[in-house]
Amino acid sequence: MPLMPMSQILKEAEKRGYAVGYFESWDYGSLEASLRAAEEAWSPVIIGFGGRTFVQDSGWDEVKLTGFAAIGKELVKNSTVPTAFILNEVSDPELIKRAMRLGFNCVMFDGSGLALEDNIESAKEIVKQATKLGIDVEGQVGRIPSQKERINRDFLTDPEAATCFVHQTGVNALAISVGNVHMLIHKEFSVDWHRLEKIDKLVNVPLVMHGGTGFPDKLIKKVINKGVHKFNVGTILKKVFLEELRKNLTQKDLDRINPQELIDSTSERDILKKACSSIKETIKTKLEAYGSAGKVKM
Ligand SMILES: [Zn+2]
Repeated sequence: MPLMPMSQILKEAEKRGYAVGYFESWDYGSLEASLRAAEEAWSPVIIGFGGRTFVQDSGWDEVKLTGFAAIGKELVKNSTVPTAFILNEVSDPELIKRAMRLGFNCVMFDGSGLALEDNIESAKEIVKQATKLGIDVEGQVGRIPSQKERINRDFLTDPEAATCFVHQTGVNALAISVGNVHMLIHKEFSVDWHRLEKIDKLVNVPLVMHGGTGFPDKLIKKVINKGVHKFNVGTILKKVFLEELRKNLTQKDLDRINPQELIDSTSERDILKKACSSIKETIKTKLEAYGSAGKVKM
């Protein structure tokens, strides 16, 4: 059950009342960990990378993009659960078009920094090309703040603007801003329920909740009932990875253990394997919370 369109994965989630997680990776180990987590939990999954992994001062790192895309393609080919492969949060339409040629079967265009009509214009063009290639597109209306920023009401998704955007562009999923915050770890946020309900009523594609790290477990079921069928998770994965590295790599360890045992070894001391395993376990907890665990027939 290898590569599957994200739209199909989300349609199934909508029908059966759960959400699917996208877990943002940054290298081979983290990408593999997210796929293994889903396989062990018998859950559909969306794996991939964020656009910022490839973006440079001007343009993008073509060699890295091609290489990472090839790794993802190969992993997905051998996957035992329905898997989509996404390039997340790209504001450069040229980078998106390039990624569509390299094996990502889903791209997320973040035009939220643009005026609505420009966001629509660019997204429309991307969807047109993507459709020809059988690739899904996620769009965004409203700005999702990061933890450092003050939540500004102007950031929030306007329901009418969202309807107009989805209608005119034909995107397969829509990322929204309803109180969710990127990179949030220590604080909790509150959902603007009235706004979410209105968006759910007006918009006919699955909604996407970015900021899955700080999103409270107790609200997950409730937003799923309001049309949210995809969560984006990133920050927490880097956090547990780093914590596990630190735990297993004190100066004392470095002084007494042969580095060959610590990296790329079959020894149980391998710190990268342990750190990736902590990513995997964290993801499995999320898959349970989203209700997607166990949804793949064995
Ligand atoms: Zn995001």
